[in-house]
Amino acid sequence: MKPIKKSLAWLRNDLRLHDNEILTLATEKSQFVTVLYCLDLDLFGQNDLGLTKTGYFRTKFLYESLLDLRKNLSNIGGELVIKYGKPEKVIPLLCKEYGFSHIFTSKEITSEEIDTEKKVEAELWKQQIEINYVWQQTLIHLEDIPFSINNLPDIFTQFRKKVEKYTSVRPALSPIKSIKSISILSDSLPSYEELGLEVLPEDSRRAIDFKGGETEALKRLNHYFWQGQHLSTYKETRNGLIGEDYSSKFSPWLANGCLSPRYVYQEVKNYEKEIKKNSSTYWLVFELLWRDYFKYVAKKYGNKLFIKGGIKRDFSHEYAYRPEIFSKWIEGRTGVPFIDANMLELKTTGFMSNRGRQNVASFLVKDLKQPWIYGASYFETALIDYDVCSNWGNWNYVAGVGNDPRENRYFNIVSQAKRYDKQADYIKHWLPELENVPSQQAHTVWNLSYKEQEQHNLKLGGHYPHPVVDVGKWEKNAR
Ligand SMILES: Cc1cc2nc3c(=O)[nH]c(=O)nc-3n(C[C@H](O)[C@H](O)[C@H](O)COP(=O)(O)OP(=O)(O)OC[C@H]3O[C@@H](n4cnc5c(N)ncnc54)[C@H](O)[C@@H]3O)c2cc1C
Repeated sequence: MKPIKKSLAWLRNDLRLHDNEILTLATEKSQFVTVLYCLDLDLFGQNDLGLTKTGYFRTKFLYESLLDLRKNLSNIGGELVIKYGKPEKVIPLLCKEYGFSHIFTSKEITSEEIDTEKKVEAELWKQQIEINYVWQQTLIHLEDIPFSINNLPDIFTQFRKKVEKYTSVRPALSPIKSIKSISILSDSLPSYEELGLEVLPEDSRRAIDFKGGETEALKRLNHYFWQGQHLSTYKETRNGLIGEDYSSKFSPWLANGCLSPRYVYQEVKNYEKEIKKNSSTYWLVFELLWRDYFKYVAKKYGNKLFIKGGIKRDFSHEYAYRPEIFSKWIEGRTGVPFIDANMLELKTTGFMSNRGRQNVASFLVKDLKQPWIYGASYFETALIDYDVCSNWGNWNYVAGVGNDPRENRYFNIVSQAKRYDKQADYIKHWLPELENVPSQQAHTVWNLSYKEQEQHNLKLGGHYPHPVVDVGKWEKNAR
């Protein structure tokens, strides 16, 4: 490639300076690089449920990430230009006005993003400008996975074993040191009100105070790995439910690209050399491979990920949508404490543990018999770490239309609750109305007699609802 005078680095889910091939390539090859983020109104369009696709917590996290990136770029001489509008309109216009001759961006995986790429390409073609794509969302590079995408195994273990045997992780790139940008006026970020989002208060019960941006991502990694050395015990604690450090909490930063999975991997390797190598250090990488896997599954199956029959095209599951039942699930009023506590955590903080997600998803689909797509759509709105491939891939899996090799996997919610929340601390954290109920009875409050309810200051059907499902089947098996 000949030296370039002016190029545009179009960032989407790559809001960082470290290990960012877009910025590395663009700055190596061009004299001036303008870094662009398009705030596309479609992000705030409505989903199947009539909810905005991007809820308050995710929007806040995105805004914080953009402001942090702007600060970090300005520290090395650059600028972040934020434009409000569709990339296929904004990018060609900027090229015309400012004479950018090259665009650098990363390849996305799912249909809406790919459609946008195609539209941008078509518009740019009119000016004879090409887009240079890089691949940087995964731990294992697309070119390094040991099969063609059509031959991607449908079982994770087969994928993982082959990847572990035949590939290695490419080194993370160093952060760019300097950048010269052409000055372009940015649009101001629309207020939450303008986007139709209700500003929610910070809930003091939240597991962690998530703040968007690369700076906070690196701080979190430093805390989790180096200061607290929590990585050494990750495998034992990762199914926890309360507090900052039972799991890494890297997900929202990974989803927005404030943190690179290859950088996390590199730090795991450093940790193994300097502190300890054990099954926990291995397990964090194992989980990052799950993240990769769902990205490659999405690439293989395209839009099948979003339809009722899922990637298996299995339409045999019967669902009967009942809006009142579905909204009880969302509001945390199903009368099943373990479900309600998790759903309240999600609603008031934007986060839920992996154990929680598996249980509430299974409960919605297998017990309430509600359409899994609605569950996935609500998660899309509510999750601070929403990642299109991880979310829809995991929902496919739980709903039995995805990559779960076991037929009819079923979660007994009472067994799960008693196993992962032995002392009922988690449910009491989110459901203060259960505070006085003895721990042994709290997961099955529906069994309390009137006298016991009175003793424990709880009125079933009053403070706390009666269960919306037949709970007998769980208890028999849980005993
Ligand atoms: C129904 C359902 C929906 C989900 N939706 C999302 C989503 O939208 N975005 C998202 O990032 N994760 C999603 N997950 C996966 C998982 O629950 C979260 O990644 C995890 O809870 C985030 O917390 P953590 O960063 O502390 O995870 P850790 O346990 O510390 O794991 C480290 C990283 O590994 C990856 N990871 C871990 N478990 C999974 C998994 N099952 N699938 C894919 N990646 C994984 C994540 O990037 C995570 O940050 C979903 C899981 C379920 C069951």
